[in-house]
Amino acid sequence: MLRLISSRTPLAQIASHNTKKLSAPVLTTLPRLYSTFTDELDLVVIGGGPGGYVAAIKAAQLGLKTACIEKRGALGGTCSNVGCIPSKAMLNNSHIYHQTKHDLKARGIDVGDVVLNLPVMLKAKDKAVSGLTKGIEFLFKKNNVAYHKGAGKFLNPHEIEVTGQDGTVSTLKAKNIVIATGSVASGFPGIEIDEKQIVTSTGALELQQVPKKMLVIGAGVIGLELGSVWQRLGAEVTVVEYLDAIGAGMDSEMAKAFHRILSKQGLKFKLGTKVLETEKLANGRVGLKVEESKGGNAETLEADVVLVSIGRKPYTEGLGLENVKIQVDKRGRIPIDSEYRTSVANIRCIGDVTYGAMLAHKAEEEGIAVAELINGEHGHVNYDTIPSVIYTHPEVAWCGKSEDEIKKSGIEYNVGKYPFSANPRARTNGDQEGMIKMISDKETDRILGVHIMGPNAGEMIAEAVLAMEYGASSEDISRTTHAHPTLAEAFKEAAMATHSKPLHI
Ligand code: FAD
Ligand code: NAD
Repeated sequence: MLRLISSRTPLAQIASHNTKKLSAPVLTTLPRLYSTFTDELDLVVIGGGPGGYVAAIKAAQLGLKTACIEKRGALGGTCSNVGCIPSKAMLNNSHIYHQTKHDLKARGIDVGDVVLNLPVMLKAKDKAVSGLTKGIEFLFKKNNVAYHKGAGKFLNPHEIEVTGQDGTVSTLKAKNIVIATGSVASGFPGIEIDEKQIVTSTGALELQQVPKKMLVIGAGVIGLELGSVWQRLGAEVTVVEYLDAIGAGMDSEMAKAFHRILSKQGLKFKLGTKVLETEKLANGRVGLKVEESKGGNAETLEADVVLVSIGRKPYTEGLGLENVKIQVDKRGRIPIDSEYRTSVANIRCIGDVTYGAMLAHKAEEEGIAVAELINGEHGHVNYDTIPSVIYTHPEVAWCGKSEDEIKKSGIEYNVGKYPFSANPRARTNGDQEGMIKMISDKETDRILGVHIMGPNAGEMIAEAVLAMEYGASSEDISRTTHAHPTLAEAFKEAAMATHSKPLHI
């Protein structure tokens, strides 16, 4: 039986710059051919993060006999346990604290002394995490996914050894296996992480007191989000970034504006600066030796806590890939074809451990698609419309191409911009920093990219994703009714600015 190939951008294409074409065919027979086992499962998923647990639930919903192996003792992966969820809990509560302290008076709300109770704030974060991870366990039960708490290791392409947390060893047999083992923080030669003073994001979400001085290495998503958290709670935060811009590759015009806004909030930046090494100083602090990225002007900065946030790397330790002869590429990723097959046809791979953006929603989409493909259906992910969000205040969100990329590609384009300072709701809320930038193809008016910096940008980007998913033009959006008074009207105005002229400016 043959399946159609997705007409959208395949993941393998995204990775074309780093792997040679795999030999696994795109059109194949269905995995049900593996019928020699009698007591085997249809699917075993290794890793219970957003990629793995979603794949397992979807597969079970499709009628496949499914098990999921997770070794951390809780489901939800990096995202629920030490990533998206705890960081958003700290971002939300530190924002409320900061706003209560600095902003409420001007709104006619007098409060007494505003005092930070960090242990309670950390507890609230932990409560959010445990509630959500237990919720996934409930979903497993509801959907008949067998949950194996332990570390999975390939014995051969159909058998996985599971070493439970109590040391018991068992073996699972499956027709299909999905690897969804995720990623861990990248380290740095010359810097020893102790998760107390020199921390990754995991340690930075557990600090038991507000550091007086904090140095953040890397002005990417984690550096800006967690740098903001501790700055709002009272730390003096300096972010050291190798590149000349913040925001790890966002549209350069938005990055400049974002840099200005965060600097005004009190974050300090040392751009174009590379970190050489750290040392523990006699005064109990950490010394961070840095120099200009192009070389020269070395200096040593001091801090109570250093956050290392220079990216994440795929995680395959202890997985026994050597037993199934799967090789990782030079960045540690497991190579796959356009239907998530590794070099072994019945073993597929999704999420952070393979190609593409390291984002929870990207892993989730792949989880659904891979389950559908294993079931012989047509699963696909549109990699051209995966949104990115930085949950600072204001938030920054984008989808599609940046203006820099479009310029480079030579496509002729229209660009429309609309500031939140002209949007009635943003002005009324006293939350009017930022703007929306929309870019469309000059000839067809089809939207190529949307970049939003402003209140609720992370929610608003969903409209851009949907519009792009359906191939909308900026005119389509400018002729669509948006409720008044809402922040979303700024989105319509940006579309009007792209297509012809905005009205309210
Ligand atoms: P993971 O979530 O890493 O899950 C993999 C799981 O596999 C882990 O639980 C691991 O214990 C398990 N595992 C590994 N090996 C084995 C084995 N041999 N046997 C059994 N189990 C194994 N993304 C967003 O989209 N939005 C955000 O706001 C966001 N915020 C983030 C904040 C922080 C601080 C961090 C660090 C990341 C954030 N991310 C965010 C990224 C997001 O967490 C990841 O992209 C996402 O979790 C990837 O999902 P995954 O399923 O591929 O892997
Ligand atoms: P990142 O790739 O976003 O940013 C890393 C930054 O560190 C880059 O700007 C890079 O230039 C800089 N850098 C690298 N080496 C350096 C050096 N030696 N000195 C100074 N700067 C250096 O990585 P991250 O912030 O660690 O985040 C990791 C992943 O987690 C990302 O892929 C991101 O997608 C995901 N994440 C997403 C969210 C979200 O969606 N809101 C939040 C947190 C994390």
